[in-house]
Amino acid sequence: MGEYGQIVTTVTGSTFYLLDGYTYSKNRQFPDGGIRYACRKRLSRKCGAFIRTSKNNIILKTNTFHNHEPPGYVFTKDGYFVKT
Ligand SMILES: [Zn+2]
Repeated sequence: MGEYGQIVTTVTGSTFYLLDGYTYSKNRQFPDGGIRYACRKRLSRKCGAFIRTSKNNIILKTNTFHNHEPPGYVFTKDGYFVKT
């Protein structure tokens, strides 16, 4: 797909993947260095959205159908993001 999301770090030190306003957390690391990120609402909302990236952070596969609205996150000037 050649699409890129952003890897962001919160003020609490957690790392997430941000794409189209939705946040994903690392779910699985593959032997090839790729990572699968699952929607952070995976458990609380049973959301099945995910992103699979290569080791170069290129998106290989996604399911971006969410059964909820995107969370309210904004970037601060330090490059961090916080929930609004
Ligand atoms: Zn979701």
